[in-house]
Amino acid sequence: MSDAANEYQGKATMEKITSLAKRRGFVFQSSEIYGGQNGAWDYGPLGIELKNRIAQAWWKEMTQLHDDIVGLDAAILMHPRTWEASGHVENFTDPLVDCKKCKSRFRADQIPGENLSAKKCPDCGGELTDTRKFNLMFKTHIGPAEDTASIIYLRPETAQGIYVNYKNIIQSNRMKIPFGIAQIGKAFRNEIVTKNFIFRTCEFEQMEMQFFVKPGTDEQWFSEWKKRRWAYYEKLGVRMDYLRWHQHGPGELAHYAKDAYDIEYLFPMGWRELEGIHNRSDYDLGRHTQYSGKDLQYIDQDNSSERYIPFIIETSAGLTRNLLMILCDAYDEEKVADKGNDDDWRTVLRFHPAIAPVTVAVLPLMKKDGLAELAQDIRAELREDFAADYDQAGAIGRRYRRQDEAGTPFCVTVDYQSKDDNTVTLRYRDSMEQIRVNRTELAEHLRKEIKGYKRTK
Ligand code: ATP
Repeated sequence: MSDAANEYQGKATMEKITSLAKRRGFVFQSSEIYGGQNGAWDYGPLGIELKNRIAQAWWKEMTQLHDDIVGLDAAILMHPRTWEASGHVENFTDPLVDCKKCKSRFRADQIPGENLSAKKCPDCGGELTDTRKFNLMFKTHIGPAEDTASIIYLRPETAQGIYVNYKNIIQSNRMKIPFGIAQIGKAFRNEIVTKNFIFRTCEFEQMEMQFFVKPGTDEQWFSEWKKRRWAYYEKLGVRMDYLRWHQHGPGELAHYAKDAYDIEYLFPMGWRELEGIHNRSDYDLGRHTQYSGKDLQYIDQDNSSERYIPFIIETSAGLTRNLLMILCDAYDEEKVADKGNDDDWRTVLRFHPAIAPVTVAVLPLMKKDGLAELAQDIRAELREDFAADYDQAGAIGRRYRRQDEAGTPFCVTVDYQSKDDNTVTLRYRDSMEQIRVNRTELAEHLRKEIKGYKRTK
């Protein structure tokens, strides 16, 4: 572990992140007034802005910057045969054990081997049940009759919506292999253990891209997508020594995968999967051919109408898990004074300005003497191009701290001098440095700062 990582481990904890997220309106527990709903979370005003920005950054990267990738928004409810074909009905299971004494429930693969073999609860020492397979798909019924014919599932991944539309998209958009389809959407898994805040939840969002390639070129595309996804996080401003690769060993590989790597992030509780990059071979389209009876072969018009079932390279990231990563990565506590009280420290979220929920906050030094009106005027101008906040409540130092905690990279302060010479103070979140900028140059200045941002702390 790097020195930076060690220091970080002492600073950000999941408790601090969870409490900041609640205090500042990033994330709330679902149905909190009823005691909360396990595995589900609500995104508050700052949280939804951050989530939207992360989704937009991914969408831009995966669709707008590529000629050969198009988007899709498929339904959550799909024909139940989809999940037989995908292998989820049969294989999407976790091994489950219960403690007969304290009633705790565990994933058998997540408790120490000696507890499992001795059938001894790791929490209370009570007797554990035999391991049984537990399917993670949420099952419900469609229509008024609750019989087996009406069973329908909430999708456990967005990928299958892409596979069943692959022919539609080839025909409607005249796509030629290699090409990709990207999708962002909700997925649901009946997870046995949901802990660590929003890391593993029953309702979450995924950002998936499925890239269809000619068999034989799959390994080359697989390594290309590994490179691209790694570069994406670098561009997003993530600290790269908090990321690493993990290759799935033979025992870990999913039933569909030929090869698989995870990008792992060093969360406060340790290294955990952030995104998976998978070579899914021709498994998916092969199975959908078999189960639907439809011919899903690709016909290569440019190559004597050669026919084949494409291989699929998948990049599968959690949007909500990315949001947690971004919060952990941005979190910092910095000593800024030495007076021996709480004000010596500030909590700051060092978001990249391109994804910060609020880009710029405009603050009048005083409410009186026309400063509030002038500040509102400047804010009205800025909000056309930036996520611009306005705050006039409390001492200016407190307001800066509030914006630091929300991760706002720039504050613009309007003071008496502003009335005279049309300049404002621009304060940088990271360095706390302040410079004077002419109002007419402010927007352009901010644009340059956002584009050229490099994290220094
Ligand atoms: P894990 O081993 O952590 O259960 P997985 O290998 O089953 O995850 P995938 O099916 O590859 O995960 O899902 C792709 C991505 O979706 C993961 O990398 C993760 O970011 C996200 N994801 C999966 N399950 C959850 C969940 N329960 N809550 C939040 N995000 C999830």
